Amino acid sequence: MHALNHTHDAGARSWLASAQAAGTDFPLQNLPFSVFRRQGSSEALRGGVAIGDQLICLAALARSGALQGLAAQAASACAQATLNDFFAMGPAAWQALRHALFAALKQGASGPAVDAVRAALIPLAGIEHTVPTRIGDYTDFYTSIHHARNVGAITRPDAPLTPNFQWIPIAYHGRSSSIGVSGQAFRRPMGQALAAPPAPGARPQPVYGPCARLDFELELAIWIGPGNAPGEPIPLAQADGHIFGYGLLNDWSARDIQFWEMAPLGPFLGKNFCTTISPWIVTQEAMAPYRLPFTRPADEPQPLTYLDGAGNRERGALSIELEVLVESQQMRAQGLAPSRITRTNFRHQYWTAAQMVTQHAMGGCNLQAGDLFGSGTISGPTPDQAGAIIELTKGGKSPITLDSSGEQRSFLHDGDAVILRGWCDKPGFARIGFGESRGTILPPIGA
Ligand code: MN
Repeated sequence: MHALNHTHDAGARSWLASAQAAGTDFPLQNLPFSVFRRQGSSEALRGGVAIGDQLICLAALARSGALQGLAAQAASACAQATLNDFFAMGPAAWQALRHALFAALKQGASGPAVDAVRAALIPLAGIEHTVPTRIGDYTDFYTSIHHARNVGAITRPDAPLTPNFQWIPIAYHGRSSSIGVSGQAFRRPMGQALAAPPAPGARPQPVYGPCARLDFELELAIWIGPGNAPGEPIPLAQADGHIFGYGLLNDWSARDIQFWEMAPLGPFLGKNFCTTISPWIVTQEAMAPYRLPFTRPADEPQPLTYLDGAGNRERGALSIELEVLVESQQMRAQGLAPSRITRTNFRHQYWTAAQMVTQHAMGGCNLQAGDLFGSGTISGPTPDQAGAIIELTKGGKSPITLDSSGEQRSFLHDGDAVILRGWCDKPGFARIGFGESRGTILPPIGA
């Protein structure tokens, strides 16, 4: 799955011209999956794969009978409203379908599969997406040491990094029902929070009202393939075979509500009102060229044996360029471009996706196909690489300026849209993109 093969060849071209368009997220080497239907229609939802400015309807392709063997079975599994069955089939089936699509899309290809793919194309401009699996469980990790230090400096200035951080990929169990796909809009959450820190010795006095410190978190969505039986661990060397692929995830956070409620059991209403994912899932195989060694500074705790292995050390990390933009109501009204507020890379994360899978299953918990992990906020080593506004503004004390309109932000305002984007780029290989995750904040109930 990590080996490079002909589907990573940067020179490979498609007969579909838009697959070669400069800056496209979806060249022939990418082939990401989503669930879709035509915009505003009552069509059945089904799986699709992006290529250039088009999408291949996998239901139509399966019906054509033009694919053979495992690739045909995989396409049939995608011809329904969720991709859980396809994810459960595992890496051999994922690869068979990817390679069949690649062969049919390649310049100069001919035959029944090429004709069937051509007939199954739908312009991306005319489709809408939904959450691609029936998400049984959603788990949110906390794996950036820079994020942990930045936020810890605000919430626990005497000891910003908790003693377990460098030993365990920390996580909490999140909420699946409020996960939505890009384009999602949600009301500013109501809740209970401290309006001001209590005076020394005084009793804290919480108030009820709209969240005053609304934030985003830049994260990767990690989509789980085949699960494990209860009580059966997933060894680190096998963990990547349990990951179908990666997308973008915005773990919206109500900081004032979160910080008042989260001791001792973790986040609750501060996180569970909304999570916005990108519709596209970039497969594990498409990511192969962008893997990097996983390293730990020699003077820091090294992973315990069950979280360590040669494969993880050689290629456990991923280089994914990431950015976050804000588009305010004023920018939309004046036709201004969204403003970028941060730019970073997933390579700085303290734990790998494989270590997250192994940690999750180690205690006996069973994962299921279609489960979702959030990677944890992705913050790089420098202050301008932070993946949350609470870090960029030092807890709200140093507002940032949105370049295109000149507006200032300590936290997010009603009407703000937050846009996450990601891509992989490396000399000698194609640039592949993740599309975007976009979510918009509506005024709170009663406003
Ligand atoms: Mn998070």
